[in-house]
Amino acid sequence: MNTLRSAASFCSDLIERSNRIVLLSGAGMSTSAGLPDFRGPGGIYRRKLGVDPERIFDIDWFKRDPSFFYRFHREFLESLEKIEPTFAHRFFASLEKEGKLLGIITQNIDSLHQRAGSSRVMEFHGGVWSSFCTSCGRTWGYNESVAMTFASDVPRCDSCGGVIKPDIVFFGEMVKHLEESNELAREADLFFVVGSSLNVTPAALLPALSGGNIVVVNKGEIALHYLPPERIDLLVEEDIDTFFRAVGKVRASG
Ligand code: ZN
Repeated sequence: MNTLRSAASFCSDLIERSNRIVLLSGAGMSTSAGLPDFRGPGGIYRRKLGVDPERIFDIDWFKRDPSFFYRFHREFLESLEKIEPTFAHRFFASLEKEGKLLGIITQNIDSLHQRAGSSRVMEFHGGVWSSFCTSCGRTWGYNESVAMTFASDVPRCDSCGGVIKPDIVFFGEMVKHLEESNELAREADLFFVVGSSLNVTPAALLPALSGGNIVVVNKGEIALHYLPPERIDLLVEEDIDTFFRAVGKVRASG
């Protein structure tokens, strides 16, 4: 009995039967693209910069000393330039093109889903593709934001001198697109959780809002306080790309 193949074929059947698929993606999808894990206990930024990763995205720390965040951010932007969307990112982009996928809710800030071709992506924690002045609200696009980030320790607004902040949600700030994400989850007839340990609310509350089937693909532990185990139709503890390549193979042969 090939468990990978049977899981992949069950998953493929669920996809065939569904036409309102929703994906919630988390850090596992970024690390499988080669983006260093910056929040985990062995995370590269804790080792390299000797800092508590929780502090990097702490809004009070940012207000006190934005240079602390920007030290990390420059490394993060450099990492982003080096990575590409994975097979799994492209898999979900193709489900959207087939008209089967309603949208993606992501906890990641790397915009790999958009780079893979997905168009309806709710970035729960914002992203790096724009930034704004914390005093006057002026905004900048990706290229300007990156240029300013590398030009000084702390980029400042040339209109008012205020500190510029990328459009990333910090701890202590409201997540984005919460209403739309809740709505999307309620509409889903097949809800995928991929690369998320379901540890952080409100994202962890989303799968249970769906009345449809639920598939969880994650290597490592999953918190089940927010998602009753009996609601999970398929739980796959496998490398994300390995699994979705197997699903893609079953679909191509069907
Ligand atoms: Zn300003």
